[in-house]
Amino acid sequence: MAEHFDVVIAGGAIMGSSTAWFLKKELGFSGSVLVVEKDPTYARSATMLSAASIRQQFSTPENIRLSRFGIDVIRSLKERFGPDADIGFHEKGYLTLASEAGVPILKANHAIQTAEGSDIALLDPDEIARRWPFLSTEGIALAAYGNSGEGWFDAWMWLDMIRKAAKGAGAVYTHAAVTGIAREGNRVTSVTLSDGREIACGTFVNAAGPAGGDVAKLAGIELPVEPRKRFVFVVHCREKVEGLPMLIDGTVISSGVYIRPEGQYFICGVSPEENADPRVGEDDYDVDYSLFDDVIWPGLATRIPAFEALKMVRAWAGHYDFHTFDHNAVIGRHPEVTNFVFCNGFSGHGIQQGPGAGRAVAELIAFGEYRSIDLSVFGYDRLAAGRPVVEANII
Ligand SMILES: Cc1cc2nc3c(=O)[nH]c(=O)nc-3n(C[C@H](O)[C@H](O)[C@H](O)COP(=O)(O)OP(=O)(O)OC[C@H]3O[C@@H](n4cnc5c(N)ncnc54)[C@H](O)[C@@H]3O)c2cc1C
Repeated sequence: MAEHFDVVIAGGAIMGSSTAWFLKKELGFSGSVLVVEKDPTYARSATMLSAASIRQQFSTPENIRLSRFGIDVIRSLKERFGPDADIGFHEKGYLTLASEAGVPILKANHAIQTAEGSDIALLDPDEIARRWPFLSTEGIALAAYGNSGEGWFDAWMWLDMIRKAAKGAGAVYTHAAVTGIAREGNRVTSVTLSDGREIACGTFVNAAGPAGGDVAKLAGIELPVEPRKRFVFVVHCREKVEGLPMLIDGTVISSGVYIRPEGQYFICGVSPEENADPRVGEDDYDVDYSLFDDVIWPGLATRIPAFEALKMVRAWAGHYDFHTFDHNAVIGRHPEVTNFVFCNGFSGHGIQQGPGAGRAVAELIAFGEYRSIDLSVFGYDRLAAGRPVVEANII
């Protein structure tokens, strides 16, 4: 066997690149790191097709901590990545609207977020009307708003910056797909690439996004992470709607619809009903335009009457790295195949958690333990133990 790397990472988007960056740059790991990426344009990666937003409004402390580290990284871009580093961050907050039924959850979540140090305020309908007069308060009992530490950024600038830092620190990137993973008993010994190379490795990291389940299968490991389609609609509004944060409407008026500004436009979407959300084929990026006309637009126009004047400009589909067990990440070593490390299943909140997850995986590899945030709650062992991590959502 010609080549050997101490660490081989399958997937070079936000998870793979963050892991490589942390290993080689931030931790100064002396071993060799190979990132295997099947599409260096990243055109179909979840990272590039995401809404690129970051929030602290979670109910699981570890999710809040991961996203807070994302904010730390954003705040220290220039120290970490150089004086020209920029990701176009708009710190405009998330505004999560709740109906009466959602108030207890919103308050409980808020207590957890506050205990974690997050700067989230609870707002009543009068305060909402004062701050965002274009917004109808119909059906809103309470809202949570991120005064700081939440917003959105440019996905490509984020990925490109982290990837360049990883490369600059010595991580090697190669254009190929991992097509085979060889094991001897409970150890991964090598990977086979689509160009025929066979590469021996000390540790294997699965950072293959929506393909995470398929890559795990190559090593004979079951991982319920699969591609689920999500649509993002780019819309223009003839009327002026200024100062809109990332709005998540968790009331029954427009259940689950989100919208945020994007330059002169807005982007919006909605999560599908659970029973209408199948696994999709890896080449299925067709957009269901009826979702905008039938669900999103009516909901938005009820909440913000000026949005009667919306015009759809374009739309895209992306694949969530969907973890069917509990819609949360799987991070850490496989309990038996201990040199197989997961960094998978972020299910819609991964781009913001890339640096935190990459740091965690890098710490496991370099030190054999988590040093910054204990993420054992996201361990693979929870699947067999039937111990889901449940994020409490407002709807
Ligand atoms: C529409 C949409 C909106 C989203 N909005 C947000 C948001 O606002 N905020 C947020 O935090 N998250 C959001 N997400 C989720 C976020 O994008 C993902 O959780 C995150 O990008 C996952 O990163 P990843 O590196 O694991 O996966 P990906 O970005 O998909 O990268 C996986 C990489 O692995 C490569 N790969 C796959 N198989 C192989 C193989 N066999 N060999 C080699 N390479 C392989 C792929 O080519 C790809 O580049 C959104 C996702 C979507 C689809």
